Formats: sequence, C-alpha cells, structure tokens
Amino acid sequence: MALVWKIDEVVNEIALWPVKKFYPTLIAKRTGLPIDTVFTRLLELTKDHKLCVKWELRCPGDNCARTLLVLDEKAVKLRDVFCQYCGHDFCEGDDGDVYDYIYPAFEVCKDYKEYLRQLDLQTKKKQPPMKGKKHLN
Ligand SMILES: [Zn+2]
Repeated sequence: MALVWKIDEVVNEIALWPVKKFYPTLIAKRTGLPIDTVFTRLLELTKDHKLCVKWELRCPGDNCARTLLVLDEKAVKLRDVFCQYCGHDFCEGDDGDVYDYIYPAFEVCKDYKEYLRQLDLQTKKKQPPMKGKKHLN
C-alpha cells in the first residue's frame, strides 16, 4: 500500500497548484512508479470523488496531436470525428483502435481541492515563520 500512498501524496500536492488538469505521466515521473499502477490508483481516487477523469481524443495525424474532443465517457463514435487542423479523417475501421487515441486527463474535484486548501492554510497558521521567533530571544 505504501507505494500507492505516494501517488496520493503527489495528487494532494498537485491539487494546490494552479493547474486545471494533469496526466498520469506526471505522477509516474514524480513517484517513479509504473504508469499502470498510477493509472489504477488515480481511477480509484475518482471513485472516492477526489478526482474526476476526462477522456481526451487526440488526433493521430502526423505532427498534429491536437485534442479534438473531451469526453466524460470513453464511448465515442470515431467515424463522426474529423480533424479540422490537419484533415485527418477517422474511418470506421479506426473504431477498434480507439484506445490508441484516447488519453485520460484528471482533474481534482472542487470540494476536495477546497478541503486541501483549508488544510494547507491551517498548517501554515500553526507554524509561524522563523523570523518572528528571532525577536523573542
Ligand atoms: Zn489533426
């Protein structure tokens, strides 16, 4: 379990950053854990309502990789998608490879973010800055 808690720690840290979303690769990099382990844990955190996940459909066109769609569910009909930037057209045959183009992006839920923020403020209040103490001696 301990290794998995490392993921939670990094998530709590990121929650205080001014970022809207993050990818499992970032957590994997910071924890040094395999991406599969990270991904599984992050999905568990979505069940806890700490995180929510969105699926980004990225264009597989050469040097394109733009996000074409952001989905709440993984289900999508690729044949309806067309990239207006590079002209890549998904055909029906692409349906089977949908997971190759879909990337999970995680967001920290508003309530959980707020909870962590309050917690952070309280911790800072309890530990007054050192320079204040110098004057007491
Ligand atoms: Zn494209």
